[in-house]
Amino acid sequence: MESLSTTCVIAGGGPAGMMLGYLLARAGVDVTVLEKHADFLRDFRGDTVHPSTLTVMHELGLLDEFLRLPHAQVSRITGYFGDQFATIGDFERLPSICKFIALMPQWDFLDFLAGKAKQFPNFHLLMETEAKDLLAQGERIAGVLATGPNGHVQIRAGLTIAADGRHSTLREKSGLPLRDLGAPFDVLWLKLPRLDSDPVDLVGRIQNGQFFVMIYRGHYWQCAYGITKGGFDKIRAEGLNRFRTRLKTVAGFAADRVDAAITDFDQIKLLTVTVNRLEKWARPGLLCIGDAAHAMSPLGGVGINLAIQDAVATSNILGPVLQQGVPKLSDLKQVQARRAFPTWAIQTFQVAAQNAILAPTLAGTRADRAPAIVKLLNVWPWLRQFPARFIGIGVRPEHVQLKAK
Ligand SMILES: Cc1cc2nc3c(=O)[nH]c(=O)nc-3n(C[C@H](O)[C@H](O)[C@H](O)COP(=O)(O)OP(=O)(O)OC[C@H]3O[C@@H](n4cnc5c(N)ncnc54)[C@H](O)[C@@H]3O)c2cc1C
Repeated sequence: MESLSTTCVIAGGGPAGMMLGYLLARAGVDVTVLEKHADFLRDFRGDTVHPSTLTVMHELGLLDEFLRLPHAQVSRITGYFGDQFATIGDFERLPSICKFIALMPQWDFLDFLAGKAKQFPNFHLLMETEAKDLLAQGERIAGVLATGPNGHVQIRAGLTIAADGRHSTLREKSGLPLRDLGAPFDVLWLKLPRLDSDPVDLVGRIQNGQFFVMIYRGHYWQCAYGITKGGFDKIRAEGLNRFRTRLKTVAGFAADRVDAAITDFDQIKLLTVTVNRLEKWARPGLLCIGDAAHAMSPLGGVGINLAIQDAVATSNILGPVLQQGVPKLSDLKQVQARRAFPTWAIQTFQVAAQNAILAPTLAGTRADRAPAIVKLLNVWPWLRQFPARFIGIGVRPEHVQLKAK
């Protein structure tokens, strides 16, 4: 079996793993990132790059180049509750460098980060390499066992990071207890064409007992259609015509494009929504971050941004330790202490919104009226900065402190 050695091995080349890999490599730490796929191409993953992440890119001196990649910008979140229209969030009122959400395919974002990280000789990216198990040395995790293009490989490391997403293999192998917060709905992702006369906002709709979100993506709308948990099989069984009819009752100005655009269920991607978090993020030698530590509901599009925030916090706390040696469990616990509250705050909001609004809407037990808070946002527009701030900047925003070497 091939055997490698590194200071920090990161399983998973998603937003959390790639950003942490970049930050540590930039600070001179020898770091190895394992990604099980051959590329970063995934459709409809987290494509919502929020002001918090754009601020991190600015602090790294990468923002201008990053924003030269093709992307769309959204500055307002609007919503329809029945026939009532409301502007819910206004990013232009934020005190951040970028007053918008950048909508960019996740693979462009990851390719960009990988390209920057590869400039450091101490950064190693092993594609098509899947972490299968943890290497233990007594009580301590001392690396991972993986399979790569040339067979089995063992990678020994002073620190192992599980950034392998919400179905994390390493988390499962670690035995760390996971708490499921429940999610009463799933999401169907689909695309609808956009016309020049359409708005350029993020538009949410709660209409006719249905829940629909349209995200401006330049020449098309990326759409999320909420369904009751596990309901996709029933929708398929009812057939495409019935689905299109239902979709048209909530697609608003884009209803006229549904028939021509949706011709096959293969165009629709199911996101099985999961909301959970680890009670303990670390064991000696191992730390979980990003979705591996906390899978988020798609509400607010915060998943990749929280993963990036975890990566920045991890580099700030553990980078200086890794420059000197091997982190202790107490060092790893500091990352959870720093990131647990923001995770809890966002998940609490998501669970409250899904239980109070989405689930009853989909069950047909709630009228399509706007919550009282939304009515206030219509009366006092300056209040719209607060939802934008909560979603776009988040609670306890992270800033890059680890210096480049
Ligand atoms: C369909 C869908 C739509 C979404 N839409 C949004 C959105 O609009 N906005 C938003 O912010 N978030 C969205 N999310 C959530 C968002 O994608 C995640 O929260 C975010 O990507 C988490 O980043 P991560 O790096 O922790 O994990 P991931 O992005 O899941 O990355 C994990 C990486 O690890 C790799 N991997 C997995 N197992 C192994 C292994 N054993 N060994 C090596 N590599 C491994 C995977 O291939 C992957 O590249 C969406 C998620 C899905 C599934």
